[in-house]
Amino acid sequence: MRVKVHMAEQQGEQAASSLCDQLQITGKELQTRLAFLSFGEQDGRNLVEIHDVVSSHIDEIIGEFYDHLLQFEELRGILSDQALVERLKGTQRQYLLSLGLSADCVEYAEGRLRIGLTHERVGLKQKWYLGAYHKLYELILRRLAVRYSGDASRLSSLVLTLNKIITLDEIFVVETYYHATMQRLEDSLHRLNAAHRQLEDFSRRDSLTPVDNRRALMEALATEFHRSRRYQHPFALLFLDVDHFKEINDRHGHVFGDHVLLHVVQSARGIIRPSDIMGRYGGEEFVIGLVECDQSGALQIAERIRLKIAQEQFSWEHRSTSVTVSIGVVMLSPEIDQVETLVTRADQAMYHAKRRGRNRVELYSEACESM
Ligand code: GH3
Ligand code: MG
Ligand code: MG
Repeated sequence: MRVKVHMAEQQGEQAASSLCDQLQITGKELQTRLAFLSFGEQDGRNLVEIHDVVSSHIDEIIGEFYDHLLQFEELRGILSDQALVERLKGTQRQYLLSLGLSADCVEYAEGRLRIGLTHERVGLKQKWYLGAYHKLYELILRRLAVRYSGDASRLSSLVLTLNKIITLDEIFVVETYYHATMQRLEDSLHRLNAAHRQLEDFSRRDSLTPVDNRRALMEALATEFHRSRRYQHPFALLFLDVDHFKEINDRHGHVFGDHVLLHVVQSARGIIRPSDIMGRYGGEEFVIGLVECDQSGALQIAERIRLKIAQEQFSWEHRSTSVTVSIGVVMLSPEIDQVETLVTRADQAMYHAKRRGRNRVELYSEACESM
């Protein structure tokens, strides 16, 4: 039974690898399955007789099979096109005439699995598919019973063989449907994980500038702070604040001010390394964590950032302004056991720079606190 098989095939059904590969069904595996069903030489001989019965009644069997299917509304819906039914009857015929032939070959299993998958994809529920196998079994069995009515032991042997081969196919159906369901679940899981990662990423980004927001910034700084502290590696923190930013906003508007902030971030990002940490601490305040960076390196980088911003006239939509920043610098030292202390000290150094005239870099010292 191949309901709407052609439709799905026309839609270009393609498998990256064979279904047998995906389900790890090898020739050896098939032999084991047949052995488990106690399929022996007698069954092989019986199959020849079964085929003889099936082929001499093939039209009746198919006719009765479809008459049966069409009694059910859901199946009538799927089989509403007469031309389709005729095509399906043709494939059904091939299926019946190859029943059990070379059942130990991977090609046999692949064919059965593929038919199952196509049915699953067109939405035929497993209950119909498995139920239809029972109907098929019954239709063949009735013909066998007529031909071998006088030979009960022959009949029972043939019925047993038929049962084994139908069972083998039914197992393929169950596997196919299970595999398809699992694949759909895996796909959903992948999509869900990707959406989760995207959401996580989104929740860590600043809403205006392309750097971490404060929460993500503090997390990243804490991680690097503890790592540097444990291994006694140098770690520097810069606290950057835009000078007289309120005036820029007041003169050119907040949207212009927003673009100034983007410009400041881009300028600083262009100087630090990709592995360094940068985030927006508050309004026009940014914190930069310089990984594996000693004091002279940190002061140099801070100075380069300051100079780059100060030297460029910033323009946006026919308006332009000069922008300067004040930067406080602090180095990780053994007595500092919390990342927050590092941030506070960098902030104090930044305020020191403000007091000393702005557009400056100041290294933290105790003097920054007392002033
Ligand atoms: P100082 O040199 O002492 O730092 O002076 P300032 O004007 O930069 O400092 P102040 O703290 O007085 O003003 C900061 C301004 O930054 C006030 C606030 O409206 C503005 N601001 C904060 N967040 C944003 C933002 O996202 N966009 C814009 N355009 N302005 C912001
Ligand atoms: Mg500020
Ligand atoms: Mg400011």
